[in-house]
Amino acid sequence: MFSLQRVSTRIINKRTISAIRPILGLRGYATAQDISSLLLVEHKNKAIASSTFNALTAASKLGGNVIALVAGEDPDPIVSEVSKLQGVSKVLIAKDKVYEHGIAEVYAPLLASTQKQLKFTHLVAPHSAFGKNIMPRVAALLDVAQISDVIGIESPDTFIRPIYAGNAIAKVKSKDPIKVLTVRGTAFPPATISDQTGASSEAAPESEKPALTEWIGEDLQKSDRPELGAATKVVSGGRALKSRENFDKLINNLADSIGAAIGGSRAAVDAGYCDNALQVGQTGKVVAPEFYLAVGISGAIQHVAGMKDSKVIAAINSDPDAPIFQVSDYGLVADLFTVVPELTEKLKKKELN
Ligand SMILES: Cc1cc2nc3c(=O)[nH]c(=O)nc-3n(C[C@H](O)[C@H](O)[C@H](O)COP(=O)(O)OP(=O)(O)OC[C@H]3O[C@@H](n4cnc5c(N)ncnc54)[C@H](O)[C@@H]3O)c2cc1C
Repeated sequence: MFSLQRVSTRIINKRTISAIRPILGLRGYATAQDISSLLLVEHKNKAIASSTFNALTAASKLGGNVIALVAGEDPDPIVSEVSKLQGVSKVLIAKDKVYEHGIAEVYAPLLASTQKQLKFTHLVAPHSAFGKNIMPRVAALLDVAQISDVIGIESPDTFIRPIYAGNAIAKVKSKDPIKVLTVRGTAFPPATISDQTGASSEAAPESEKPALTEWIGEDLQKSDRPELGAATKVVSGGRALKSRENFDKLINNLADSIGAAIGGSRAAVDAGYCDNALQVGQTGKVVAPEFYLAVGISGAIQHVAGMKDSKVIAAINSDPDAPIFQVSDYGLVADLFTVVPELTEKLKKKELN
């Protein structure tokens, strides 16, 4: 294989190599000029979702140009912000009411038709509910495999991603001509604002807008607490809380005493102790705060998959053999109903640091 590559470079021009590379399954020819990525920007009304900044860093790591796609009913404020981000070379704008609520049934054809007309090598989105809903549909429309939850980029065709709820790490090499990726936010630092003048923008190619799904409404919890996915401190409660009242009283107060976001295990969510959006784990959110405190959570692999990258992990559990202690930096073997109120009082009075 090595000698074939060396001989080939002498006798075949670069354009031909680009064309036959996917057929031969060759690596090593991809230059920054060959690569161009389309980054799907996730945003809510007037703010870019923080996961987009991390996905941009991942897209920049692929090499080549990164073109950002902003869709929405009134995307201009977002376009202006995105154009100032380090690594964005152009912004494509899809302005239409149908894009207002992130409905996958209209976003997927938009990405597929943008790809068909502009021929990117990579399509990148955050591994959030938004990205996870859209990108598999895009991959299906383009007839390529989708590569989910990327935590590392080895080369433009080789990616690192967790499997088996994070218990094994796979290195995946894609031979597809187009790579459709979702990126785990906590694995890449956020992109920063550039000092340069903003990137140019233009309208995205037209695409069909199938009316398969109608937006009815949403019922969002309003909270002054930090957002779980972006918080630097998280306090999570588990099944041991026994009721929503206990969860609200003990976990919410403890979290407020240190300005932390609130999370929960799936058992706590399923039992109705806390809202679905607060679930941490394989089928919930993946978080990597500076400090994660697990209260009355056993440490099942599916939960640990969502928090093990936290910088400092502490746990309160009455069972000294609870698996959560195996991933914890600090552990307190105690009854949470006794120690959590005491801890909260001390933190409120700043008797502890
Ligand atoms: C496909 C799949 C996906 C899943 N995804 C997720 C996911 O995303 N997130 C997730 O969390 N789970 C997930 N699960 C579920 C997971 O396997 C566990 O069932 C769940 O995490 C258990 O939640 P828990 O730790 O709160 O409850 P338990 O496992 O019941 O643990 C409760 C803990 O509280 C301790 N305790 C009891 N009383 C007290 C007390 N008074 N004081 C202190 N400690 C006490 C106990 O010792 C025990 O360790 C998934 C499972 C499957 C099969």
